[in-house]
Amino acid sequence: MISIGILDLQGDVSEHFEATKKALSSMDIEANILKVKTVEDLSMCNGLIISGGESTVIGKLMEKTGLKTAIIEKNIPVLGTCAGLVLLATETDYEQPLLGLIDMKVKRNGFGRQKASFENEIEIFGYKYEGVFIRAPYIEKLNNGKVLARVNNKIVAVASGKHVATAFHPELTEDTKIHEYFIKEVLKCVE
Ligand code: GLN
Repeated sequence: MISIGILDLQGDVSEHFEATKKALSSMDIEANILKVKTVEDLSMCNGLIISGGESTVIGKLMEKTGLKTAIIEKNIPVLGTCAGLVLLATETDYEQPLLGLIDMKVKRNGFGRQKASFENEIEIFGYKYEGVFIRAPYIEKLNNGKVLARVNNKIVAVASGKHVATAFHPELTEDTKIHEYFIKEVLKCVE
């Protein structure tokens, strides 16, 4: 049975836990879902989700716990949402610890103060989807991978190799498409 980890250092971890559970059940797949606080927890995972929160805080805690190096070395699929997307990048407009798993440049809080939070209908995988954006970043430049969705011409969701990143919060809406897509990536890697 596969195990999906949710990085549990800071941010909206329990919402991802529930969304992953719902996606697995709609796909009729049995899997373990575990909260990852240590390198030992990570060693049991076939895929990892990094939630929204504060990317600087999560990054520093990843360094302190040794998880930053462990995640890079483990080389499993990672789904990063909002702050998680920031952490997957190779470059941002801040000085902060990054995993660098997706070759892209990210602008943090890219939608500005006026639009600190908003919902926007986007199109992803050919479907209409309600994206929840909270102090969301956007991708200024994707060097390797494919664009999955844009808002006002800004890139807000990408897939790169086995990794997936969204500027919005798929764990805060009922639609489990993003989690399902990620779980399929995890399954491909364990086959
Ligand atoms: N602005 C936050 C950051 O860059 C992300 C916000 C969020 O995850 N909702 O870390």
